[in-house]
Amino acid sequence: MFKIDTLLAQAGSRWDERTGAVSMPIYQTATFKHPALGKSTGYDYTRSGNPTRQVLEELMAKIEGGIRGFAFSSGLAAIDCILKLFKSGDTLIFTEDLYGGTYRLMEKIYSEVGIKTVYIDTSNIETVKAAMSEKVKAIFIETPTNPLLKCADIIAISNIAKDFGALTIVDNTFLTPYLQKPFELGADITVYSATKYLAGHNDVLAGIVVAKSNEIAEKIYFYQNAIGAVLSPFDSWLVLRGLKTLPIRLKTQQNNAKKISKFLQSHKHVEKVYYPGIGAMISFEVESFSLVKQILERVKVFMFAESLGGVESLITFPKVQTHADIDQNILDRLGINDRLLRISVGIENVNDLIDDLKCALD
Ligand code: PLP
Repeated sequence: MFKIDTLLAQAGSRWDERTGAVSMPIYQTATFKHPALGKSTGYDYTRSGNPTRQVLEELMAKIEGGIRGFAFSSGLAAIDCILKLFKSGDTLIFTEDLYGGTYRLMEKIYSEVGIKTVYIDTSNIETVKAAMSEKVKAIFIETPTNPLLKCADIIAISNIAKDFGALTIVDNTFLTPYLQKPFELGADITVYSATKYLAGHNDVLAGIVVAKSNEIAEKIYFYQNAIGAVLSPFDSWLVLRGLKTLPIRLKTQQNNAKKISKFLQSHKHVEKVYYPGIGAMISFEVESFSLVKQILERVKVFMFAESLGGVESLITFPKVQTHADIDQNILDRLGINDRLLRISVGIENVNDLIDDLKCALD
């Protein structure tokens, strides 16, 4: 098999043999004409399958080492589809500093139908062991976590999950299959907000699920088609187009992030820097809330906006943006306070990014 960079760069480039189109065509159609009664071209209706979406789904399965991929209209729609695998009475374990939207989905919707949740520090394997029981049907991890960027040991966690017959689900949004391949580490399902690094240009909302086994893939396909939160043909094309440059974007973003984290570590007004040494997300704590306000007002290259993973650098205030729906007690315990900022490093010139932070902080 070709290497990941090659697969990504030529995504969809050989689909249309008839015209030789190098860019994957956008099959902007809701339905497909049948050749005769009882015959199909393989496509019937776009909710059930569409060539542009299919090329994206197959590419994601291939680069992950999974059996089948599924594209959704957002990352949360993708997570929601996975949650359909569980029923009332099941317990699911989650990483405690989780994306706020996933927490809201669990606490405001799935807990109402009887799914129980436990939030723990999945970077501590003893804590994971202690939380396990026969009722636990899955461990859902984000690694690195959002926004504190703690890393989990996917191998150890998936071994524990297997002992209890539970699934390991990894939200791999922050690292992508270019930097972390959860299936090689024992996971059963991966999920992405493709809105972030996969698409990479802050111009589309999308979600991806990849299943490792046929059994899970069949169920996910059933729910994807039955519920219908599929990614549109045009948005599938945007994600495919973004994916072509994922390796070069991520390399630049990661190199920039390493330099920025060093700068932040040496700055007198910065008290803590959270950077795991991989990827392009950094969180940092400054001396005071007034400094947070000053930074958000002064930045000229970083943009004060939610989201992450795009070519443009963004700065976020997690407490009131991404994590506003999380219980105050949990936020306090985790240290997600009003002095914490999170940056998503883009591909701009790193000196411009550092100068921007310097001017905003001093
Ligand atoms: N997972 C993570 C780690 C995220 O950061 C996000 C969004 O920020 C989501 C899932 C949800 O994705 P979306 O915003 O595409 O619905």
